[in-house]
Amino acid sequence: MATPRLEIDLNKLFHNARTLVERLGKRGILVTGVTKATLGSTEVAATLLEAGVIGLADSRIENIETMRLARVSASMTLIRSPMLSQAHRVVEQADISCNTEIEVIRTLSLEAQKAGRNHEVILMVELGDLREGIMPEDLTDAVRETLQLPNIVFKGIGANLACRSGVSPDCRNMTVLSRLADSIEATLGVAVEIVSGGNSANLAWALSGADVGRINNLRLGDAILFGCETLHRQQINDLHTDAITLSAEVIEAKTKPSMPSGLIALTAFGNPTPVTDRGSVRQVIVALGEQDVDPDGLQAPGGIDIKGASSDHLILESTNRDLSVGAEVTFELNYSALLRAMTSPFVTKVMNKRLAEDRDIPELSRSELSHDSLKPATVEST
Ligand SMILES: *Cc1c(COP(=O)(O)O)cnc(C)c1O
Repeated sequence: MATPRLEIDLNKLFHNARTLVERLGKRGILVTGVTKATLGSTEVAATLLEAGVIGLADSRIENIETMRLARVSASMTLIRSPMLSQAHRVVEQADISCNTEIEVIRTLSLEAQKAGRNHEVILMVELGDLREGIMPEDLTDAVRETLQLPNIVFKGIGANLACRSGVSPDCRNMTVLSRLADSIEATLGVAVEIVSGGNSANLAWALSGADVGRINNLRLGDAILFGCETLHRQQINDLHTDAITLSAEVIEAKTKPSMPSGLIALTAFGNPTPVTDRGSVRQVIVALGEQDVDPDGLQAPGGIDIKGASSDHLILESTNRDLSVGAEVTFELNYSALLRAMTSPFVTKVMNKRLAEDRDIPELSRSELSHDSLKPATVEST
């Protein structure tokens, strides 16, 4: 088989997604499946939908377009604020977009009018991580303006933590989001149907048994793909952490000195890492590099150490004599390594098909999966 080769085990992804959908469902939280790390892979999208996610989300309109072209049938949310220059495409292909700038929503409104369709909007709130978000004190005004725009449907509010600054989702900031939903409803008399609390970093909080308040949605990618919560990278009970692997081929295996010889200056990618003289070592090169993967995000099998990488070469050390030319080495990878491997044209992607016996799982009933059913009973929808 071709190398480098990224393999995604769809059975394991299904299990991870299904388990999270069920556990969060018990807490009144629906899962939106995030496809951005797999570039909107049709197979991954279909697997997540089968597992019961309420819809799909991606940060790039291109990936949403890919899934639409492949006839993936689901509600699609653009989770990065739309570029003004892409407003037309966003309205054409995404059902919902997450927004922080009224100017963008105005443009979406104009495009939606031209296209003769409605576009749904979630307003993102800044809760301390200092990535995207409207400041909480400005939120009511932003909702008020949004409500006045033709062909724009205000669907709810959301937050995103732990991405830029590592701020943890907790009872305090999640309560702020819940109270904001309450206050919008009280002030403007409009239903806040979706309250999307965040991403995989929210799982420790969401599954802790704490009161989840108004939070009824999470947008999950990483935890489904890798089986871990993302704040401390702890495995989530019973989830697979090895659904995704990357295999590469040995192109050189020699005994070499561990110490370089000659005058040491910069390397191809910056400063050389200090080395100690460990005598001769078994050095193995695999045909994999910065152009295929983020080498820092690779985890080698036991007994193999990753020693360095350049554009096209990954340097390993191992006493394992089986690592001869032509042998394959299979790595586990993190989010950043996956992102680059998926994006690299040099990496073959293989999706291992779902097994038939895993498909006999009863469907979750549609009503369990609708945000409409989670609308607070006291508020009339407008
Ligand atoms: C990437 C992203 C997510 C998903 O994050 P994971 O860590 O993969 O679960 C959710 N929301 C937004 C806004 C994102 O950009």
